[in-house]
Amino acid sequence: MKKRLFVVAALCLSIVAFGQTKMKDAPLVKEGEGPFTQLIIRGATLIDGTGAPPIGPVDIVIKQNKITNIVNVGFPGVPINAGSRPKLDGGGKEIDGTGMYVLPGFVDMHGHIGGGQAPFAEYVYKLWMAHGITTIRDPSAGNGLDWVLDQKKLSASNSITAPRIKAYTVFGQGASEPISTPEQAKAWVVKNKERGADGIKFFGAAPAVMDMALRENKRLGLRSACHHAQMDVARWNVVKSAEAGLTTMEHWYGLPEALFTDKTIQNYPLNYNYANEQDRFEHAGRLWKQAGAPYSEKWNEVMNKLLALDFTLDPTYDTYEASRDLHRARRQEWHETYTLPQLWAFYQPNRVSHGSYWFNWGTEQEVAWRENFRLWMAFVNEYKNRGGRVTAGSDNAFIYQLYGFGYIRELELLRETGFHPLEVIRSATLHGAQALGMENEIGSVEIGKLADLVVIDQNPLENLQVLYGTGAIRLDENNKAIRAGGVKYTIKDGIIYDAKKLLGDVKKLVDEEKKKAGFVLKQPGEQ
Ligand SMILES: [Zn+2]
Repeated sequence: MKKRLFVVAALCLSIVAFGQTKMKDAPLVKEGEGPFTQLIIRGATLIDGTGAPPIGPVDIVIKQNKITNIVNVGFPGVPINAGSRPKLDGGGKEIDGTGMYVLPGFVDMHGHIGGGQAPFAEYVYKLWMAHGITTIRDPSAGNGLDWVLDQKKLSASNSITAPRIKAYTVFGQGASEPISTPEQAKAWVVKNKERGADGIKFFGAAPAVMDMALRENKRLGLRSACHHAQMDVARWNVVKSAEAGLTTMEHWYGLPEALFTDKTIQNYPLNYNYANEQDRFEHAGRLWKQAGAPYSEKWNEVMNKLLALDFTLDPTYDTYEASRDLHRARRQEWHETYTLPQLWAFYQPNRVSHGSYWFNWGTEQEVAWRENFRLWMAFVNEYKNRGGRVTAGSDNAFIYQLYGFGYIRELELLRETGFHPLEVIRSATLHGAQALGMENEIGSVEIGKLADLVVIDQNPLENLQVLYGTGAIRLDENNKAIRAGGVKYTIKDGIIYDAKKLLGDVKKLVDEEKKKAGFVLKQPGEQ
């Protein structure tokens, strides 16, 4: 089982980094400004994350790291009556929020801190923070649980510039012997809690092992995530996981399999090999079509079962986007400025790197994947419509998607799924907080919650692309193309970070690495 676990681990999205270059720790430097005895963001428009529509102008009062008051101070288009505004205490700090939008800090539910392909924690953290991500869940603790827990502590004390961290250990990680019995599973789960993990990330295992591990983990009050990998999905799909206590489903594997009506195993070609990445991704792209059709009896039955269990879907669409449009993903403009040379190398067609399945990828594969997306999105949208929780997770940086940027792309893909932009923002904030059990601390802009905020000088509801660090393209009054947006401030724990400066730091790091390596960005096959 240990060997098996290693094989599965080596193949699964997220785990490729095992045994590769050790991550360079984020520097212990206090960056950002604050926290302040009092901070007032004045005259902004608030999108609070609960699903409420925007309202403004409001003054938001923060003391140290907590939101202590939110005051409506007038009406749009007329001057604000100064008498109605909260007073600034001595030593307090003000931000002029005129024309700005304030949102809760974003939660990336599938945020690998990584290892290997981008071996600088500072790089990963700053790309996240520059895109307003103030909390992440690391679904695998790829650099080892102790390392992630140490980073979590340093982030909590703001000794490093990083989002809040939740650490989910890969099931079986660090076990002294292969886990092949329910008793061993139970013992590992108990130990995982003792070691301080926030949860477990599963890839699948024998049914009795999965059942015991999930039930024991739930009994102990921890949460869980599962990527239902093909190697075990024929005997254990998402419905079984949810019934045993799994709290979030990652990606989408395991769900179409639960919707089969005319088969029990995916229609694999007879020369399929799971260790062949093109086989794996190409035939995954033909999977949703094999499932019960949208709104069919089986489709409804499975959906309603998951809803009754208060189950969370974390689709991570963006990491599959290259499957439906490779050209788009690999030419995303930010690669030139913000992608590390070693990460660019990792993305290139390769039979060994995880998710670099471009052996022979073209029209046929992409058309199948577009249909796959359509059927997948139909399920996710209706799940949301029936009251289900859907979160935003990026699963970066694989398959030509980059930290932070990929997360904003995920928000766009939730919009494409059929979510109203306010539903998108709620998925990115409150629903993420709920899925992590943090809804009393973060996830919405409400009195008593922690001051984790995104401040931007554009309305992201009108165009989510303004959230990209590179901004959105606009033509100004002089017929000149400009860039609008990019997050202005990411506030975490009442500390104000200049988001564009964070992105500048990332560029500097990338420039240094390029210089060291004499790197010139080339597309696959270019000489
Ligand atoms: Zn992952």
